Amino acid sequence: MPKFVGAHVSSSGGVENAPYNAKDIGATAFALFTKNQRQWKAKPLTQKSIDSFKQRVKEVGIPFEQILPHDSYLINLGHPEEEKLQKSREAFIDELQRAHQLGLKLLNFHPGSHLQKISKRDPNYEDLVKEAEYNCLDVIANSMNLAIEATKGSDVVLVIENTAGQGTNLGYRFEHLAYLIDKVKDKSRVGVCIDTCHLFSSGYDIRTKEAYEKTWQEFDKVVGFEYLKGMHINDSKAKFASRVDRHHNLGYGEIGLDAFKFIMNDERMDNIPLVLETIDESLWAKEIELLYSFNPKSRP
Ligand SMILES: [Zn+2]
Ligand SMILES: [Zn+2]
Repeated sequence: MPKFVGAHVSSSGGVENAPYNAKDIGATAFALFTKNQRQWKAKPLTQKSIDSFKQRVKEVGIPFEQILPHDSYLINLGHPEEEKLQKSREAFIDELQRAHQLGLKLLNFHPGSHLQKISKRDPNYEDLVKEAEYNCLDVIANSMNLAIEATKGSDVVLVIENTAGQGTNLGYRFEHLAYLIDKVKDKSRVGVCIDTCHLFSSGYDIRTKEAYEKTWQEFDKVVGFEYLKGMHINDSKAKFASRVDRHHNLGYGEIGLDAFKFIMNDERMDNIPLVLETIDESLWAKEIELLYSFNPKSRP
């Protein structure tokens, strides 16, 4: 069964440039932003841009199912302030609509952050953190249900990414992902994306075969492989369980190459986009080659 491997390519100058950027590095999958990721508002996609995107995706032969758009970094679906929450929800719905217009099936997003300042010296620190986290997860689940409701008739799946757990970011435990899935009413519109760098820095080891199997067993038990819709393939500059989000190129970081060999030879990762977000993009073509060299038969 095939593996689809690519990178988060640039869509500067228009989304229609992304498919060629993917082809240039030998990708069979890719990720992109469908608008400037650092701005709230974007002009609607023009019909010309949409048509050109679709035509070029067909031309380069990448299945639409293997394209994993990523939402804007500004969006926080669990924002504690009403006004900013509203703004985030509107922007997220816009992202879903843009993905749908482009013929895409997935939208990758980070769950959100609770932004509460809780003192480590507080004797109830652990409990207070947990409370803030689960209150925030409830807000995020609400945001997801509202977005699904607002985009009825579209089949774009809301793909929750696991995080490193930096700051007050949620999604650094499989339990967080499972909690959100559980609260989403329409299960056909929810999935997860596992980022290997975030996985590792949030305290799930994948460096040895034994650790790798244990981590995925836990994933299957808590979340379930039926929800795995994509992966981000990154090494980590930050140490194990550091909860620091620093990507690195494959083989240069703390994870090492074995984990990526395991992934390329694991049937559970067949037929989903496997997307590099490593820091030196001049190495992407080589990294795609390297990944396929771990399992040449997996090339589609
Ligand atoms: Zn990622
Ligand atoms: Zn990251």
